[in-house]
Amino acid sequence: MNRFRVIARSMTALLGLGTLLGCGLNANAADYPNKDKSITLIVPFAAGGPTDRVARDLSEALRKSLGGNVVVENDAGGPGGLIGASKLLRSTPDGHTLLVHHIAMGIFPSLVRNLPFNVESDFEYLGMINDVPMTLIGKPQLPANTYKELLTWVAANKGHINLANAGLASASQLCGMLWQASIQVDMTSVPYKGTAPAMTDLIGGQVDLMCDQTTSTTSQIEGKKVKAFGVTTLKRLNIPALKDLATLDELGEKGFQVTIWHGLYGPKGMPADVIAKINAGLKAALKDPEFVKKQEGLGAVVITDKRSDPAEHKKFVASEIARWTPVIKAANVYAD
Ligand code: ASP
Repeated sequence: MNRFRVIARSMTALLGLGTLLGCGLNANAADYPNKDKSITLIVPFAAGGPTDRVARDLSEALRKSLGGNVVVENDAGGPGGLIGASKLLRSTPDGHTLLVHHIAMGIFPSLVRNLPFNVESDFEYLGMINDVPMTLIGKPQLPANTYKELLTWVAANKGHINLANAGLASASQLCGMLWQASIQVDMTSVPYKGTAPAMTDLIGGQVDLMCDQTTSTTSQIEGKKVKAFGVTTLKRLNIPALKDLATLDELGEKGFQVTIWHGLYGPKGMPADVIAKINAGLKAALKDPEFVKKQEGLGAVVITDKRSDPAEHKKFVASEIARWTPVIKAANVYAD
């Protein structure tokens, strides 16, 4: 049996036992956050990528709204950041270990065979954070400068093109997969443990192309470290660095649209009043002018609608699972 599954199951059993014996989560909203403990935000990807970016910006805002020390820990690896997500489920559900994760929560069930946890029942949903567009970018050495030239280059180099991503079941893999389906060309997928190492190799020319969140690509596009070919929203973005970048839809990939969202999670079993306190702290953080400025300056849209409520967050993830399952089945891709 898969190692992750064994660990996740035995943790669930242990936590259930702890709750039954009344022994021990020893947490309630009155002493949350505990002044002797930091709140750890697990990021299931390498430092320096977009999930890391949102977690670091959020940690500063949460420090103000919750009043405790908030640290970011990168636990990269596994399809869709499985290692970090599994680590969260092994932690004590007292609100001091949380996970910042993205759309992988909506694609895990259809993309990862033998998933060691149940996305809908093993996590506490604490509220969503942001929606982030993606951009199709290329190494600076590419001869193509426009999307049209890129398609010509792709046609001439079929069978030799490398498309980087942040690992199987990552947002970048999803976007790259949909783009390949749209142009009907297969490329070699090169997985990394997050966008940051993939971006380093793209800038160095070791890989050819990548699709990734604007929260990591904007500064590289602005600094001319990579070439930008299109944005994955149906409308152009309204930020200085990307406002002239055409949408893939207007470039001919009709209906092409991928937006990545991030949410905050805890392990199942957290006390309800701690969940409520974290959610209130999150909602205050989402209104923090500095947080909003940083995120929106990079093309993200901070969530102000009902999806920042735990119940609506959970409903939204369920709707995303339902939305992506047929797409992923039709593409016939999976990760083990
Ligand atoms: N952008 C990455 C992804 O494609 C993850 C990251 O490094 O934040 O999933």
